[in-house]
Amino acid sequence: MASVTLNHVTKQYAKASQPAVDDLSLQVQDREFLVIVGPSGCGKSTTLRLVAGLETPTGGTISVGDRVVTNTPPADRDIAMVFQNYVLFPHMSVYRNMAFGLHLRRRQLGMTHAQIRARVVSTAEALGLAEVLERSPRALSGGQKQRVALGRAMVRQPQAFLFDEPLSHLDAKLRVETRAELKKLHRRLQITTLHVTHDQEEAMTLGDRIAVMKGGRIHQCAPPLEVYRRPANRFVAGFIGTPGMNFLPGRMEGAQAFAYANGLLRLPAALATAAARYGGGSLVLGMRPEALSPTPFTGQGPDENFIRAKMSWVEPLGDRVDISLVTEGGQVLVCRSDSQVFGKLAMDGIISIYVDLGRVHLFEPGDDGVNITLTRESGHAAA
Ligand code: ADP
Repeated sequence: MASVTLNHVTKQYAKASQPAVDDLSLQVQDREFLVIVGPSGCGKSTTLRLVAGLETPTGGTISVGDRVVTNTPPADRDIAMVFQNYVLFPHMSVYRNMAFGLHLRRRQLGMTHAQIRARVVSTAEALGLAEVLERSPRALSGGQKQRVALGRAMVRQPQAFLFDEPLSHLDAKLRVETRAELKKLHRRLQITTLHVTHDQEEAMTLGDRIAVMKGGRIHQCAPPLEVYRRPANRFVAGFIGTPGMNFLPGRMEGAQAFAYANGLLRLPAALATAAARYGGGSLVLGMRPEALSPTPFTGQGPDENFIRAKMSWVEPLGDRVDISLVTEGGQVLVCRSDSQVFGKLAMDGIISIYVDLGRVHLFEPGDDGVNITLTRESGHAAA
């Protein structure tokens, strides 16, 4: 196995106004499972195709281990790509599907038939497919088919794997099962993997690290929980997490109060310090749904830990409910509540949302506004 490194890689398609991949630098470490996640059109597939050699960058270099492969043809890069719509040959057994590529290049690879068989059998054993080698793909479960597609790539013993949304065509239940299987397989086989997906839950559960992408650029690359707890900017905060982070625009009033449309919240000292360091002007308070707890409205005056709101929409999830609320200033917030607590709230009246201010963030204004509170926690500036 080897690392895969992109160094200032750019891809500008001839007629496009913006580069599909914009000065992107990223290293998938040896044996790491790195997931690129981002909305449709952000440049994920182009990045993968550049690494595979199916596209040529207009700038920058790509290396596999110490070898620069920027201009190396795909077949000579020692990288295997598993596509979204992998196709198994339906008329061939699992064994023949897995051995097919090696047989095609047998002379070039200098392998005997016996060596091919030994490699396919040992790969099938590693993937739990030894029992089904003689079966037709039609007689396999979705998860098994996925593993055959993987096995077909593994028998080439590549330096790294590229996965292009390999789970996206599976139904929800199978996707969750196959995802878990893929994760276990990676733990055991430790194959360097670059995986792309638009599904943030898939990214969170699979990745050792996740790279969150938008507009051809990586906005943050870190372990999943770090991205969740310490999002570098507002785009990352909104994209990662279901439901995403809530945002409340406002500005500082005095040293510690955050003033929004119709109220004040008293920020803890560390946040107030971050706001003071940033200087005056507009800011956006970011609150994860779990930092908000709806409580019955007591009828008392303003409290600096609460936001007053009305419920507008409720999504029951069993033990919990997602509640959409509209503040008196017209701002929509979503919070997650225990079903029993929810039962005590008046559906059509005003409620108080308790804000756990130890868990909130402050962002610069704008869709990609930087998280100005990260320096307080990490001691270094956010990317
Ligand atoms: P994603 O995989 O994240 O959905 P892509 O990498 O497919 O995004 O596309 C990134 C951007 O590049 C999009 O704006 C897309 O329209 C554009 N793009 C992709 N392929 C081509 C191409 N062959 N020619 C021109 N533009 C392209």
